[in-house]
Amino acid sequence: MRYRPTTKRALRVVVAVFIGSLLIIEVFDGFSFVRETLPDSLRREGLLSFLRGKERPFCPCPHKPPSLLGFRDIVEVDKPMSQLEQELGPLLRHGGHYSPPDCRPHDKTAIIIPCRNRWPHLRVLLNYLVHVLIRQQLDFTIFVIESDQGSTFNKGILLNLAVLEAMKRDRYTCFVMQDVDLLTMDDRNLYRCDQQPRHLAAAINKFKYTLPYPRYSGGVYALSLEQLLKVNGHSNLFFGWGGEDDDIYHRLYHVGYTFTRNPEEMAKYWMIKHKRDKGNERTRQSTMLLQKTMSEKRMFDEGLNTTRYHLDSVEETPLFTWIKATINLTEVLQPAPPYIKSLFENGLQFTNKKPRTR
Ligand code: UDP
Ligand code: MN
Repeated sequence: MRYRPTTKRALRVVVAVFIGSLLIIEVFDGFSFVRETLPDSLRREGLLSFLRGKERPFCPCPHKPPSLLGFRDIVEVDKPMSQLEQELGPLLRHGGHYSPPDCRPHDKTAIIIPCRNRWPHLRVLLNYLVHVLIRQQLDFTIFVIESDQGSTFNKGILLNLAVLEAMKRDRYTCFVMQDVDLLTMDDRNLYRCDQQPRHLAAAINKFKYTLPYPRYSGGVYALSLEQLLKVNGHSNLFFGWGGEDDDIYHRLYHVGYTFTRNPEEMAKYWMIKHKRDKGNERTRQSTMLLQKTMSEKRMFDEGLNTTRYHLDSVEETPLFTWIKATINLTEVLQPAPPYIKSLFENGLQFTNKKPRTR
């Protein structure tokens, strides 16, 4: 079909006006007075930078990510780290960062993985988790936190120091605490924060895919920055296996939060089988802290505001930011009030007794 000359002219005018307005926007955006008078929201993540493709996209990510796969059986595959870096590295920015190219997520999320002498588990986990988090359209950074070999393992203090170190690097608004040996089996179980704390690992194979006790909220859980700050983070004092997760449950409960979960069929996790680690034996102190000192009282005395550690190094690897720290019992106890110090006066005492849960 032939255009009549007037239609052609009209088309040219439309194209010229479009290109002209783009140029005007570009030139005027260069003048600071224009930038200064733009509302905050437009200046930071606005139309102008979106048009130029420099900043994060304008549209919020959809409530339901479009490319989820749902439930999948787990096959534990342990690939060498170099192979993982080759396969997953191109999907991430150095340090283990990712943000979705096509939408703007609600949160900036730190995935925090404590890992000491569990490198095979970390490799199996990364092989799964990176793809899941990408499908979930999260803006995330993976942090791996390793403590020195000499100290008794203390997951709570590692989570605290990871939060503090992450916040030095960026404005994270959501923190997912992820055990290194827990593989999510269903990507509909989103690694997102919410108005209430989220317990993600609600149905683990080790516990026959159900909660071991109603208040269990360990393994994998997501806390917003606000939730974490309200309870002063985790306790620093749970040396050895167990207790720190029950303690943060009570802290959160006391300030009015309750964990929410997906139904069991959507919250399945596969725990890689393992023996109890050396240097992570149960301590009597953990039982006493839970049973003799109230978490809700103690949380104002110790937590994020009293976390003492030596930062040995922070290294950005292709798949994660690797934080190494040394923990010293005497220094950890130094800011603690007398009623806590007295529990530790004979040093850490190891036990095989299972701590009672409230
Ligand atoms: N962990 C670790 N090295 C240790 C002990 C524990 O990395 O020596 C971390 C690891 O992330 C692990 C988590 O702490 O998944 C919880 O410990 P564990 O798996 O022994 O507890 P479970 O939940 O299996 O009883
Ligand atoms: Mn485990």
